[in-house]
Formats: sequence, C-alpha cells, structure tokens
Amino acid sequence: MAGQGVGFSELSSSSNGSDNTKRPGTPQITPSELSRPVNLQRIAQRKAQIKTYPVRKKLEKLGVYSSCKAEESCKCNGWKNPNPPPTPSRVDLSQPLANLTDPCRSCSHTLGAHISHLHDIPEDELNRLLCMVIDVENLFMCVHKEEDADTKQVYFYLFRLLRKGILQMATVTVEGPLGTPPFEKPSIGKAVLNFVLYKFGHLPQREWQIMHDLAKMFLHCLNHWKLETPTQKKLHSQGEDLAAYKQNYTRWLCYCQVPVFCDSLKRHDPTAVFGRVLLRSVFSVMRRQLLEKFRAEKDKMPPDKRTIVLTHFPRFLSMLEEEVYGDNSPIWDDDFTVPQSLSLGASRITPLTPLSERGDSLVATAR
Ligand SMILES: [Zn+2]
Ligand SMILES: [Zn+2]
Repeated sequence: MAGQGVGFSELSSSSNGSDNTKRPGTPQITPSELSRPVNLQRIAQRKAQIKTYPVRKKLEKLGVYSSCKAEESCKCNGWKNPNPPPTPSRVDLSQPLANLTDPCRSCSHTLGAHISHLHDIPEDELNRLLCMVIDVENLFMCVHKEEDADTKQVYFYLFRLLRKGILQMATVTVEGPLGTPPFEKPSIGKAVLNFVLYKFGHLPQREWQIMHDLAKMFLHCLNHWKLETPTQKKLHSQGEDLAAYKQNYTRWLCYCQVPVFCDSLKRHDPTAVFGRVLLRSVFSVMRRQLLEKFRAEKDKMPPDKRTIVLTHFPRFLSMLEEEVYGDNSPIWDDDFTVPQSLSLGASRITPLTPLSERGDSLVATAR
C-alpha cells in the first residue's frame, strides 16, 4: 500500500508523517492515526503474528476475555493474571506466562476455569477470536485517547460490542437505532454517476473520460474523508439538522471509519451507503479543503494533470454543488434514466467504481 497514498484521509488531521516508529497500542498514537496505512499494516502484522503463537498461549490470551465457568455464581468475565510481569516489554509475548492452575486475581478461580469452553474449538476460530482481541485492545486505546465526547462514546459502544462478541464467540453486528446500510437511496455513488451522464453524457469520448475520471476521484476522496465531529460541525452550522448529522456521523464511525482498522466489523464505503443528506452536510467543507490541497500541490504535478485538477475539477465541483443543494435535481431520482437525446455506449452507463487504492493516474498525481 505504501507509496500510492493520496493523503486525503489526512487532510483533516493536522499531524502528518515523520513518526514511523510508533506502534499501535503505544500511548503516543491517537485514534485518528490508526487508519493510516502504516498503522493498518502494523495491525495486520500483529494479527498475523498472534496466529503463530502456540495454542497454550492463544488460550491464555483469550482467557483474559472469557468468563469464569468454575461455578454458576461466579460473575467474573475475564481471567486476571495474579503476577503480571513487571516489565512487559522484556518478556517474550509469544510464550505462555501462566499455568492453567494459576488463580484469577479477581475471582480466585483458575485460568483453566476461564478457558474450559475453548478446548474443542478449531484453531481457525481461536484465531478469529484473537483478531477480535486485537481490535478490542485498539478500541480500548481509542476510548482512552479520544477527546471528543461523541466519538468516545461510539468507541466505547464498539469496544463493548466486540468484547461481548468474544465472550459469546459470536460474530458481531452493529445493532440498535442506527439502522442498517444502505441508509439512503440512491447512494452518493449512484447519484454522481447520474450527474456525469446528465451533464457530460453528450461530450466526445476524450472529454467524457476526463469527467468520468474526476467523478471517480471525487468518490475516492469521499470514501477516505474524515467527517467533522458533531461538535465541530455545530461551530459553523447554519440552520442544519444537527441531530440528523450526529446520527450519520455515528453510522459513519460504526460502518465505515472504525472498520478500517477494526476488521472484525464489516466495512462499507460511505459513497455506497449514504445519499444526499450526508453529501449535503459535508460537500462545502470537503470542496474547499480539496481545492486548497490541490492548489498547494500543483507544482508537484505534471502539466496535463495540473490542468485537469486545477481547471476541470473546480468546474466539476461547482456543477455538482448545484445538483447537491438544488431542490429539483434529477440525479437524485430513484428511477433516473439517461436522457433520450443521448445515445450512449454501454461503457458510459456501467456503475462508477471509485478509484481503487492503486493505479489511478489522477490520484497518484496528488501524492
Ligand atoms: Zn470465577
Ligand atoms: Zn476470574
């Protein structure tokens, strides 16, 4: 993944680069940094590594997140090591630190009594649970480091959800009043394709291709966009429905943003599950920051890309803005059809896939 980053995901965060020595789970890292490629890679490495541990060690690790089965009345929900190593950084984490007969610091029952349910479990399932443990540890860090109260609350909810998932050896799904994706129809992805057909469908192939690429770039940016917290939003909101924004922000955290670094949760692309309401709430800020970023980076781009990004893209965004905020735009019609006057090749009406992480010339430019 290294080297193709656009850095869009970092746009709204003030800290950039230079700290390649940090590890997830260490105190210096902040929750918003967890989704950066270098940290995602470390999380993936930890998950790969933990799968190579001896089974005894895996069971010990899971025991910390497993309820005690010694007697019905014991409510202990995780074995606590009575002799935690004084300098954890010095011990070999891949080796067992405890015996099955070691008593729990909390309930005094043995480690064995906390993991008795795991003995006949296939190793694949143990591995899945261990990956959830790593996600739980990262969420634990997020809960403690996050300063925004709304975001902290969501981290805590997800932390408890995954912890319960490990206890019950279940797969986790976010439930409750948030609803399930897709949250709006048509999706932003569909509406932006409609927009390109509606406004540029008549153009010759070469110009059409430019607009089509800009649309893909726009969707890519949106999929990597960090939404403002409801508190930040409130500071410059003009008569917007803040309760609705907060609900979408919570959905975005649970279904899009946290699953980036927490793959026990299913990830959805924002452009596939959100629609006009979300786009309206982020468009102005996003447009301004994107254009600022491109202007700042213009000297690093080859001349032809510079024209596309500095001339065509602002115009593209202005035209899109009208359709986003306008009351009667057809691009949001559920049954949008290509205008009759256009005879389009099939290639123009296939769904727009946002740029993948690699291989797109426009986005690579903005590195
Ligand atoms: Zn117990
Ligand atoms: Zn216990």
